This record gives sequence, C-alpha cells and structure tokens, in this order.
Amino acid sequence: IVSKLPTVGTTIFTKMSALAMEKGAINLSQGFPDFPPDSRLLQRASNALLTGNNQYSPMTGLPILREAIAGLIDRHYDRKVNVLDEVTVTSGASEAIFDTIAALVRQGDEVILFDPAYDLYEPAVTLAGGVCRRVVLTAPDFRPDWNAFEALLTDKTRLVLMNTPHNPTGSCWLAEDLDSLWQAISSRDIYVLSDEVYEFIHFSTNAVSIHKHEKLRERSFVVSSFGKSFHLTGWKVGYVIAPAALTVELRKVHQFITFCTATPLQQALAEHLNECPEESQKLAAFYQQKRDVLRGALAGSRFKLLPCEGTYFQLLDYSDISDLDDVAFCEKLVDQIGIAAIPVSVFYQDAPKNQRLIRLCFAKEESTLIEAARKLCGLS
Ligand code: PMP
Ligand code: GLN
Repeated sequence: IVSKLPTVGTTIFTKMSALAMEKGAINLSQGFPDFPPDSRLLQRASNALLTGNNQYSPMTGLPILREAIAGLIDRHYDRKVNVLDEVTVTSGASEAIFDTIAALVRQGDEVILFDPAYDLYEPAVTLAGGVCRRVVLTAPDFRPDWNAFEALLTDKTRLVLMNTPHNPTGSCWLAEDLDSLWQAISSRDIYVLSDEVYEFIHFSTNAVSIHKHEKLRERSFVVSSFGKSFHLTGWKVGYVIAPAALTVELRKVHQFITFCTATPLQQALAEHLNECPEESQKLAAFYQQKRDVLRGALAGSRFKLLPCEGTYFQLLDYSDISDLDDVAFCEKLVDQIGIAAIPVSVFYQDAPKNQRLIRLCFAKEESTLIEAARKLCGLS
C-alpha cells in the first residue's frame, strides 16, 4: 500500500503509555487524570444509560447539551451564541479539528501552525491535501513572533491553527497576540481554528480566548473538550462554536464522520452542567494546586522548571543533568527511575538544536506527583 501519511508512526502518547505500563513506571507522559471524575456525573451517566438514552442523538448534538454549552460560554466569556446555528457537539476535540480542516482546506492550501504543535494537526492537514507552514515558538515564553507569522502569509493561506493554553508548553497567548493575529489576517480570506481544550485551565488573569475577541470570533471555529474540563478523557465529547455560515460547512463533514456523539454521555454532561454550573469555575484553582505541588517538590532537583501558565503540563529543562537528546533522555527516565515523560522535540517539525525539554502531566493525585518528584530529584 502506498501510504498517505508516509512519515507518520504511532503517536508518542501511545508509545510512552505502553512503555510506562511495561516497565511499571509512574506515567506522567500521556495527558490524562489518574483520579476519577465527579461521582455525581458518573451517576448521571449511569442513569442516562438505564433510562433510554441509547439511540442516535440529533447530528448537531442533544438540544439540552447545546443549550448548556451556550450557557457555559455565556458565563465564562459573556458571549451569546445561537444554539441552533453556532454550537455543534463532536466526538472529542479531535473530531472537531478533523472536521474543520476537512471542511476548509483544499488541495494546495496552506495552513499556519505554531511549532511545537499538537500531533494531530499536521496529518489532518496533509490528508486534506493542504500544506503546513510553521512559526517556531521558543523557550521560555513560547509566544509567537508576529513578524515571522506575517512573512508566512501567501495567497494560498487558508487557515491558522492556534492553541491556547498551549500543549505541550503550558504557555498562554495574551490579548495583544489576538490583536496581532487579527491585524495580520483581517484583509485576507483566512479562517482560524482555535484549539482551546484547556480553556478553563489557566493560572493567570491575562489568559485570552477567541470568544472574547469580537472580530476574530467571526472568522473562527473554537474547539473545546469535556475530556479536559471534567476529567474524562475517555468519553470523547467535545464541541465547536463557530458563526452560522462556518458551522454549516463544519456540519457537512461532521454528519459523515461520526454523525453524532454518544447520546447517554451527552445527556449526563448536559444535566451536570445545568445542575452544577459552578464546577468549571473551580478547575483552574484545582490544577494550580497540583502544578504548585509538583513545582515545589522539584525545587531541589537539577531540573530547571519552565513557566506554566495553563494546561496540565509542566516543562522541565534537563540540560544540567544530561547531554542526551530528549527521546533518549525519556527512555533513560523510564528505564532507570521509572518515570514516563514526553520528549518535547516530537511536537516540532524542526526542534531548536540543543533544546533539552521534557513534558510532565500533573493531572495526577498529589501523592503520585510527590512520589514522581522524589524519583526525579534523586536522578544522577
Ligand atoms: N487538542 C489538544 C491540544 C489536546 O491536548 C488534546 C488532548 N488530548 C486534543 C486536542 C484532543 O482532545 P479530545 O480527547 O477531546 O479529542
Ligand atoms: N492530549 C493528550 C496529551 O497531550 C494525548 C491524547 C492522545 O493520546 N491522543 O498528552
């Protein structure tokens, strides 16, 4: 078979989680919580299954869930969205990202990404016949250079794919970044796909969302995921907010990729959002505590801690510990001290030479974080 994705292998998340399992290591690689979701939500899911919510939902998502999502967007961003035309439920953010790219990108179109980028963006663009152009973000703040961005714009640029709070770096864009983006694209026929799956996990008051930018949001698909917001990455329920004309195109694809998302899970999430509307407001403080436990426990180590403004990922610079490249260093970590981490170079097309960074997921019980930090502190 002639592969359509000849350079793509198995994702680093699958590889590292498998290695962690095989070696019995503490798994701080793939991003998922090691604690259970809210038991009230689990009860609602169980009730939803047992009370007959087991057939297809409407293609656009259960009305009760779309209403609840509109309420969530209003509470957090003071943005009123039209439930019928602007809110679509998808099977995770992954499906939403694929749908958007498939709906927009034509053969030869260019898509601008920020490097390092989450691993599914480029293959989705390639499958649609598009080509990625990358603006490199550099440590420690990883904010975009807008002159470099403008230099990449051509008549073929169709889409900008951004992600804030940013996986893997934990950096967040500022209001001035959104203004620079708007200035650069406003006179061109370019759309924005904003991956905001960590929208409620940010630790600074400066963090921004496309939802708050009145001009950009008219050109944007804003994608999020309940996997991150309610600690249930295995449920794969996400959503896209986009203006009506863009939503029409998105739904043309969505209806043929999955048609709809697991009905009982949608029902449970809708009831939970309606009955516990305050939960999403607590998420940032919940994860800030975990971030601070991990950072505090690593303070005496030889790792340098990079800033972490959002997401549940902490970057560590190990250049005072080893000259190994980051893939080899992660193999050593899992083999020698039983910690699985993610090498940051895998998210880049061209990783900066001699950058020695690994990513740890802190969506874990405090005891897990403390035990992991103890092992990392003892590393020689
Ligand atoms: N985008 C980013 C930046 C992510 O970290 C993830 C997490 N897994 C996704 C998209 C995919 O989200 P989901 O699991 O809801 O498909
Ligand atoms: N988003 C998760 C991470 O960055 C991984 C999701 C997956 O395994 N596809 O760790």
